[in-house]
Amino acid sequence: MKNLAILGSTGSIGTSALEIVAAHPDRFRVSALTGNSNLNLLADQVRRFSPIRVAVPDEERAAQLKQRLATSHGTEILFGAEGLTACASGAETDLVISAIVGSAGLIPTLAAIEAGKDVALANKETLVAAGPLIMETVRRRNVQLFPVDSEHSAIFQSLQGHRRKDVRRLILTASGGPFRDLPLDQLRKVTPAAALIHPNWHMGRKITIDSATMMNKGLEVIEARWLFDVPADKIDVHIHPQSIVHSMVEYRDGAVIAQLGIPDMKTPIAYALSYPERISLDLPPLDLCALGKLTFLEVDSRRFPCLGLAYEALQHGGTAPAVLNAANEVAVERFLLGEIAFPDIPLVIRRTLERHEPVPIRDLETVLAADRWGRETAAMISATALVEGL
Ligand code: NDP
Repeated sequence: MKNLAILGSTGSIGTSALEIVAAHPDRFRVSALTGNSNLNLLADQVRRFSPIRVAVPDEERAAQLKQRLATSHGTEILFGAEGLTACASGAETDLVISAIVGSAGLIPTLAAIEAGKDVALANKETLVAAGPLIMETVRRRNVQLFPVDSEHSAIFQSLQGHRRKDVRRLILTASGGPFRDLPLDQLRKVTPAAALIHPNWHMGRKITIDSATMMNKGLEVIEARWLFDVPADKIDVHIHPQSIVHSMVEYRDGAVIAQLGIPDMKTPIAYALSYPERISLDLPPLDLCALGKLTFLEVDSRRFPCLGLAYEALQHGGTAPAVLNAANEVAVERFLLGEIAFPDIPLVIRRTLERHEPVPIRDLETVLAADRWGRETAAMISATALVEGL
C-alpha cells in the first residue's frame, strides 16, 4: 500500500490522480490533500478519501472548508505555508504528487524533498525556477523524482535500460496548440476563450495558455535539462499535431526510442505512481490504423517566440529561468483578464528578461527574490502595455 499526498488535488492533474487511486484501492491510500479556491470539490474529496490532513492557502478558506465538512470528520484542517508543508512532509506519506500550478508549488515541493519523500512531479514551474536547488536537494536527500508531464514521462520510459552516455539528444513533441495554422496577423485578435480550447488535451487554464504560446514547451525544455541532466543544445522540439508520440530519445547509434499513447494524462500519472510496475487503466487502446498517419513539423520561431525565450533564459542561467517563469505567469494572467493581447505575452516576458541581471542560485531565497522581482517587473510592463501598447 502506497500512501499519497496530493498537492493541488482539485486541479486537472489532481483529479485524474484521484481517479487512479479510486480505481486501485488495494494499492493507494490518500494521506493528504491540498486545494485553493474550489472548496466544494476539496470537501467532497476529503469525505471520499478521508486523508489524515488537508490544507488550503489561508485561514479564511480553512474555516470555510471546516463548515462544509461534518464536525465529526477526522481530517486535520490546516492552512498557509505551514499547512502545505505539513501535507507535503507528513511521516505517513510515501509519495507526494506535486500538482499545484505555478511557482506556488515550489515551497511545498522542496519541503517534500527535504523530508525525504519521493515526488511525482507535475508542477514544472518548480524545476524551471529552481532547477539546480531542487536537483541538489534530490541528491542530498536521496529521493526519486518521477516525471508526470507526458513528455518527460515518455523520455523517462525511453531511457529505461539504456546508458545515459549513449544519448545523443532528446526530442520533445508539442501539439502546436490551437493557433498552429492561424495567419500571423490574426494572433492579436485571439480571445482568452479561443486560447483555452486545446485541440488534444484537457488541462488547467494556465498550462492551456502556455500550450497556445508554446511557453509550455519552453518550460519543458528547462524541466528536461534538470530532470535528465542533458544540456539545452541536446534538447530539440518537434511539432506533432496528433499528440500520440509523447517524446523520444535518440541514441548515438541512430536508434530513436519513442513512447506512444492516446493523449490522456492518466497514463503518465499512473506510471509515476506505480513505477517500475504498470497498472491497469480503463482507457481506449491506441488505434494507429484508424489514425492513419503521424506528422512532424519544425517549430516556426516567429509564431512561437516563447520557445526561444526559454532557451535564452536557460543559456543565461542562474535566476533567468525563474524570472522567465514569473513573467510568464503574470503575462498569462493579464491575457486571461483581457488586459493584454495574445502576442503581448512574449513581449512582456522579453522586456522583463532584458531588465534582469541573473545571479547564481545559492538558496531558496535567491529564487523567491527573483520570482518577486520578475512578477513586479512584468506587472509594470503589462500595465504600460495596457496604456500605451508594447
Ligand atoms: P489546474 O489549474 O487544473 O490545478 C491547479 C491546482 O493548484 C488546483 O488544485 C488549485 O486549487 C491549486 N492552486 C492554484 N493556485 C494555488 C496556490 N496559490 N496555492 C495552492 N494551491 C493552488 O492545473 P493543472 O492540474 O492543469 O496543472 C498543475 C501542474 O501540472 C502545472 O504546473 C502544470 O504545468 C502541470 N502539468 C499539467 C498537465 C495537465 O494535463 N493538466 C500536464 C503536465 C503538467 P483550486 O483549483 O482549488 O483553486
